[in-house]
Amino acid sequence: MARPSWQALLIDIDGVLHVGSEPIEGARQALDVLRARSVPFRLVTNTTSRSRRLVVERLVAMGLDIAEAEVLTPAALAVRHCRDRGYARVALHVAPALREDLAGLNDVRSGDVEAVIVGDLGEEFTYERLNTIFRQLHDGAELVALQRNRVWQREDGLVLDAGPFVVALEYAMGREATVIGKPSPAFFDAALAELGVEAADTAMVGDDVEADVGGALDAGLDAVLVRTGKFRDEAVRASGIRPTIVIDTIVDLVPLL
Ligand SMILES: [Mg+2]
Repeated sequence: MARPSWQALLIDIDGVLHVGSEPIEGARQALDVLRARSVPFRLVTNTTSRSRRLVVERLVAMGLDIAEAEVLTPAALAVRHCRDRGYARVALHVAPALREDLAGLNDVRSGDVEAVIVGDLGEEFTYERLNTIFRQLHDGAELVALQRNRVWQREDGLVLDAGPFVVALEYAMGREATVIGKPSPAFFDAALAELGVEAADTAMVGDDVEADVGGALDAGLDAVLVRTGKFRDEAVRASGIRPTIVIDTIVDLVPLL
């Protein structure tokens, strides 16, 4: 391909900058180059198991110099979504470590709710929890999924993300969730608006061929797929999605700029 002329970047975190507590080799230097060349960027993550503050604390502990304002997560947009719809009664089915990012919502533990917000609950995705959510949906609540990713890469291998459980709820209800994070076009639009750039001038860098690459292409961005994190050749083939370019790691982004 011709040398791209990206003016800004959106960069996924998990699987691109680190796997578990281990940074991807050269990730820090790659971000340093972006700053040195004044390439504006936002880190856009579908991680919903912890708050933005904790995400940033972990990056800083790995030697990555990132500020909270540089990170966009689905939680803030979920709060906006519920406010836009005037929801006063919302049930939060999210990890305790995420709750501080949803503090703007009135979490209701019993009775009727207008929306159910679901994030990655890990081992807390029990039958009982799922059935509680199902009953709230059946009573009329909107299913708001912070994200719908299939899997993510943990240090010990691939693990189920929130998506399979969201899909189980969709199947039971016969209707689809409102997805807040990637690949929702609104999520990409929010990141572009923060940077003040156009989709056509921007590339998304990620390890998830559907949420990162497919979402970015649908939103009009270029999409760079890295062969780190959850990347698997067969998943890319099965998706039918064609990234703008595939690189080994985020380090290989630098010569493209
Ligand atoms: Mg990722």
